Amino acid sequence: MTVCDIDKCAGCMLCIDVCKKEAIHIEDNMVSYNAVIDEDKCVNCNACHKKCPQNNTPEKISPISWYQGWNRDDEYRSKAPSGGIGMALAKQFIKDGGYVCSCLFKDGDFYFDITNDYEQALKFGGSKYVKSNPVGIYPKVLEVLKAGNKVLFIGLPCQIAAVKAYVGAQYQDRLYTVDLICHGTPSPKILELFLKQYSKSLKTIKDIKFRLKTKMQLVVDDKGIVCKGVSDKYTIAFLDGLTYTSNCYSCKYASRERISDITIGDSWGTKVDAEEIRKGVSLMVVQTEKGEQMLKNADIELLPVDVENAVNNNEQLSRPMSIRKNRSAFFELIKKKSFNHIIFNQYKSNCLKQDVKLVLIKLGLVH
Ligand SMILES: Cc1cc2nc3c(=O)[nH]c(=O)nc-3n(C[C@H](O)[C@H](O)[C@H](O)COP(=O)(O)OP(=O)(O)OC[C@H]3O[C@@H](n4cnc5c(N)ncnc54)[C@H](O)[C@@H]3O)c2cc1C
Repeated sequence: MTVCDIDKCAGCMLCIDVCKKEAIHIEDNMVSYNAVIDEDKCVNCNACHKKCPQNNTPEKISPISWYQGWNRDDEYRSKAPSGGIGMALAKQFIKDGGYVCSCLFKDGDFYFDITNDYEQALKFGGSKYVKSNPVGIYPKVLEVLKAGNKVLFIGLPCQIAAVKAYVGAQYQDRLYTVDLICHGTPSPKILELFLKQYSKSLKTIKDIKFRLKTKMQLVVDDKGIVCKGVSDKYTIAFLDGLTYTSNCYSCKYASRERISDITIGDSWGTKVDAEEIRKGVSLMVVQTEKGEQMLKNADIELLPVDVENAVNNNEQLSRPMSIRKNRSAFFELIKKKSFNHIIFNQYKSNCLKQDVKLVLIKLGLVH
């Protein structure tokens, strides 16, 4: 028996945190996640079924305002994936006495933590293009809220739905939420398979970055997995939407109406100065007055944005990613062939372009 429909689990892990009998575990076969109930332990309390965001219609909110802009802290902005808005909000929230909860990479896992120390919160920074794992975080958020504190939770939209469901109506006024515009997420096992080709493993690396501004590529322990400036085959597959778990292709949150106080993403298609684009420009969509206040208090440059242009340039503000024709073949082939071999054959022209770039960089003709 599974908590939600077969192959529809988003991996938010709420059911695991809700179950008092420790009767639920996640089965991850890379194609999809399933939250499986151990019927010997289950006492039929139904708490998991009732709370699961996949079994409920999300309460989505229409935006009240749209902005583009960036973190005014130049040092953080230069390291941020986009305009550094996540960490600008975290900084101000902690300054105002609150706690911030988000995702970080440590000891091979993309897990969640909560802190009221900005130096610690900086470890949350960066885009992780993989399914992160919030297991265990929801009770911690509730505990901090119950103690009278405010909490800012930054995560994927499915994780925001989960934290709101766990916390319940009583503490919503102290819970602040920021979700990311999200293409979709692959299982970390996909990343592990990819890294294995380079004799690397998530457990043994210290740091991993997935992008810097418009440069989309894996950088492991400060070295481009292929070469800085050249896109790797994990990233090529991710950006095309090939490798996400099944639920992502029917994501309920990929729309203009959102689940959080503020949604952040990239201001693709922006007409601001080219130098600012190089430094990183984010899109911010505000759903609530709480969100508006949070944004205006933070050290963020806020500029108007052409809403239709922003939406047209960001597909996941309208619909989920569609399933790629070559997805089933990829998951069949990965059982016997190498990741790079399959992606090379499926994305020949893009891969050849990256190979040429690599040669030009090595010859010193391109930087
Ligand atoms: C899987 C994924 C898909 C995305 N798809 C799109 C898209 O289609 N269009 C678009 O405009 N933007 C997308 N984004 C958002 C974009 O890549 C940036 O993460 C976002 O703009 C924030 O940038 P920033 O400079 O403000 O980051 P920062 O100031 O560094 O803040 C980033 C915050 O996001 C949190 N975070 C990052 N990755 C994860 C994760 N996997 N799980 C939970 N929390 C996480 C960090 O922990 C941190 O708190 C996606 C992000 C992810 C993780």
